Amino acid sequence: MKIATIETFDLTCPLGRPFGWSQGWIEQRNTTLVKITTDDGLTGWGEGAASDLINNLLAPLLIGQDPIDRNGLWERMFHALYNGNNAVGLAGSAVSALDIALWDLAGKATNLPVSALLGGKIRDKVAVYATGLYYTEGEFPDRLLDEARGYVEMGFKGMKTKVGGLSLKDDVARVRALRETIGPDISLMIDANEGYNATTAIRLGRELADLDLVWFEEPVNAQDLDAYLEVKAALPMAIAGGENLRTRYEFKPYLTQRAYDIVQPDIMHCGGITEMARICAMANACGIQVNPHVWGSPVMIAATLHLAATLPPCPPARNAQPYLQEPVMEFDRTPSVIREELCAVPFDQEESFIQVPEGPGLGIEVDETVVARLSI
Ligand code: CA
Repeated sequence: MKIATIETFDLTCPLGRPFGWSQGWIEQRNTTLVKITTDDGLTGWGEGAASDLINNLLAPLLIGQDPIDRNGLWERMFHALYNGNNAVGLAGSAVSALDIALWDLAGKATNLPVSALLGGKIRDKVAVYATGLYYTEGEFPDRLLDEARGYVEMGFKGMKTKVGGLSLKDDVARVRALRETIGPDISLMIDANEGYNATTAIRLGRELADLDLVWFEEPVNAQDLDAYLEVKAALPMAIAGGENLRTRYEFKPYLTQRAYDIVQPDIMHCGGITEMARICAMANACGIQVNPHVWGSPVMIAATLHLAATLPPCPPARNAQPYLQEPVMEFDRTPSVIREELCAVPFDQEESFIQVPEGPGLGIEVDETVVARLSI
C-alpha cells in the first residue's frame, strides 16, 4: 500500500453572532482538512493548518510511501523542517494534519480504531467540559448567565469562560456572577488567552481566589516561561497552558520546570497523534495533568478522543476522577457549522462525557458534500 494523493481543503463558515476574547473578535470559523488516498483506494482524514506548506513542502515527502510507517513519516517531515530552519511554528500544524490522516488510514487498513493502534483504551468515554461564555455585544448579564444555565441543564459538570477582554473590575464581576449562577458544584475555569503580564494575572487571580476556580488558563504570553513560573508560584488555583506550543521540544521546559499544573496540547497543532502521545507521556512523568485543547472539526475531536482514551491517570488512583486524576477534554460549544455538519452525527456529550468512537481509524465518516460546500 502506497500513498497516492494528498488533497487539502480550507473550510470556512460564517457566524450568526460574532464573539470575542482577549485577542480579538471572531466572525467566521475556519479550519484546514487533509485527505490522503492510497493506491488501493483507502482514505484518511486529518486536520491542521497551513495548506500551502502541506502541498508544497510535506506532501512530496509522503507520496509513494507506505502510510503504515507513521513514525518514519513523522521523522521525514520533521527532519525537513529541522534541517531547513531549526523551527517548527505553523509547520507543526501541517505535520499534525498529515499525521492524523496517516493514523486514520492505518486504522482503516487494519480495521482497528486509532485507540487500539495506540495500545488500547483505558476508558470508553472521556470527560469533557463546555467551552463557551465568550464576550458578545450587550451580553451581560442576561445572555451570558442564560448560556451558563443552559450548560448545567445539558448535564455539563464544568465550563470555561473568558477573561482579559474587559477591565479587571468588569471581568471580576462577570466571573463572580457566573459562579453565583451555576452554584458551587460545577467546575468553573477562566481563560485569558495570554492577555496579561504576570503582575496583572496575579492581581486578577487573587481577586477571584474565593470562587473555587479549577484552573486559570493561559494567564500570560505562551512563550514566557518565567512569567508562568511567577504566576504559578503566586496563585492558589491550578495554572493551565500549552495550546500554542509545538513538539516535545517546546513543551520540555514547561513540563520539567513545572510551569503548568495542567498542560493542554492541541492535536492539530502540536505534531499530531504521534507527537501528542510523546508530550502526554512526558507530562504524566512530570506529574502534570493533560487536559487536551480542542477547537476544530469532528476530525480533531475524534483524534483527541482516541488519544485521551489511552492516557493513564495522573497519578494512578483507586477511583480516578475527572479534574483530579483523569483527563478532561475541552468541548467547544460556540456556533460552528463545520463542527456540527461535517459528519452526519455530530459529537455530543452525556453527563459531561463523550464516548470514544469504535469504528476503524478515527471512527468518523466525513461528508464530502459538506467539505465541498464549505471549501473556500
Ligand atoms: Ca484556551
